[in-house]
Amino acid sequence: MKSYQMLIDGEWVKAGSGKTFDVLNPATGAVMAKCPEASDHDVDRAVRAARRAFDEGWRDVTAQERGRILLRLAERMRKELPRLAEIETKNSGKPLTESEYDLTDVATCFEYYGGLATKLHGEVMNVPDNAISMAMREPLGVAGQIIPWNYPLLMAAWKLAPAICAGCTMVIKPAEQTPLTLLEFAKFFADAGLPKGVVNVVTGFGETGAAIVAHKDVDKIAFTGSMEVGRIIMRSAAETLKKVGLELGGKSPNIFFADADFEAAVDGALFGVFVNQGEVCSAGSRVLIQKPIYKKMLDAMVAKAKTIKLGDGMDRATKMGPVVSREQMERILKYQAIGKQEAKLAVGGGRPTQKDLQKGFYVQPTIFYDVKNSARIAQEEIFGPVMSVIPFDKEEDALRIANDTPYGLAAAVWSRDIFKCMRMVKRLQAGIVWVNHMQPTYVEAPWGGYKMSGIGRELGPWGAEEYMQVKQVHINLNETPIGWY
Ligand code: NAP
Ligand code: MG
Repeated sequence: MKSYQMLIDGEWVKAGSGKTFDVLNPATGAVMAKCPEASDHDVDRAVRAARRAFDEGWRDVTAQERGRILLRLAERMRKELPRLAEIETKNSGKPLTESEYDLTDVATCFEYYGGLATKLHGEVMNVPDNAISMAMREPLGVAGQIIPWNYPLLMAAWKLAPAICAGCTMVIKPAEQTPLTLLEFAKFFADAGLPKGVVNVVTGFGETGAAIVAHKDVDKIAFTGSMEVGRIIMRSAAETLKKVGLELGGKSPNIFFADADFEAAVDGALFGVFVNQGEVCSAGSRVLIQKPIYKKMLDAMVAKAKTIKLGDGMDRATKMGPVVSREQMERILKYQAIGKQEAKLAVGGGRPTQKDLQKGFYVQPTIFYDVKNSARIAQEEIFGPVMSVIPFDKEEDALRIANDTPYGLAAAVWSRDIFKCMRMVKRLQAGIVWVNHMQPTYVEAPWGGYKMSGIGRELGPWGAEEYMQVKQVHINLNETPIGWY
């Protein structure tokens, strides 16, 4: 078992209190590492280090140099990918192939922002006066970044890379369940040329995150996680009027018209909600199927769902690993029980019965059908492999059901009729809409939610913009007095 330390001001340190917490392997329930539990005092040290790094030097490091640092981190990530992918799988439960995809995306994210660093610029406006009017873009300062457990290193990359690109310094906290890959990645910082104090990593629980949010010297919070914690963060950030970026959950509709390619539809519906054990903020957890294909598609999905191989993510044959924690497993089991009251169960609905899966935090891929959109399993985010199938008649019905949710992160439409698809695209209330696919996303494109799924956008130039502020500069070119008084 490994004991980790956290990174504050370029030093690997224990918590001031000496307290640690256990990190588990969800496939076995065994303790795999210990991490420091940071207190308010440790967070304060980290924030002060970030502030000092920002004021004393980092703000003057050129965009070219920031770009090179990001590219070096990307290169190192690719080199160490096999080792880190194993740690990601052992700590989060996801199948190894999925960890490999995630960590490839981590490298791509650093490459993208490495290239973008030199392309961020200001503007010059045409104002009606003898003056030059400019908008300068400057880094915001110190960012606090709070990461969830579903894509541990990838969600950290989505925040670290644009913040470094923009010239901020930061204090980042991984989720208590999955801190290991970020701590491993942080070991690359010094070699990449990142000055000490620019990125500080603190580990701990919700209180550690709350201390970052409350700190008066943090200028911006970037958070990905639950709607409940998003609310708490926004309330707390109001005290110091911080800029807040939130990427919260969803109950995303995956909509299948009768004219969709049938095989692609069946695969797309299952992939949309079962990938990463359903622990995906954009999971297509509401599957809306047009009535002419409803029965046939349900039967085909059930038949395929039965073949999904559950197991330890380290086994290459595994298609679905354990969920991240006992707490999350129990939460999903509770929703499966609720679903049995609210709708009809087609497959799954509990824990798997295989003997070798009893120690880990496994749940069966589950499909409920004839679900009413008002049911709890259609309204509340479960964050597990639970699909709610809802029938619909017409295009307007699909649209009404799809938008009848407080969330608005993602949606998908499947049909061969481009007119119908584009009408849906225009009226779906979601930050991301897929047509004939669900889940792939690229660092070049914006990611974020409508409605209660969040505030702000990550990735692409939008992601860097979140870490900058705009300064208006007016340069008077008249050499005579105003002559007003
Ligand atoms: P969560 O509580 O929202 O945790 C996300 C992050 O916020 C973690 O780093 C967590 O730290 C931290 N945190 C918790 N309380 C905080 C506070 N008061 N102030 C600042 N930071 C705080 O999510 P969870 O409890 O792990 O999971 C619960 C549900 O959230 C899931 O079932 C799922 O529905 C949803 N979720 C959504 C996403 C998404 O991508 N949209 C991701 C994860 C979870 P600790 O982990 O150390 O407590
Ligand atoms: Mg927690």
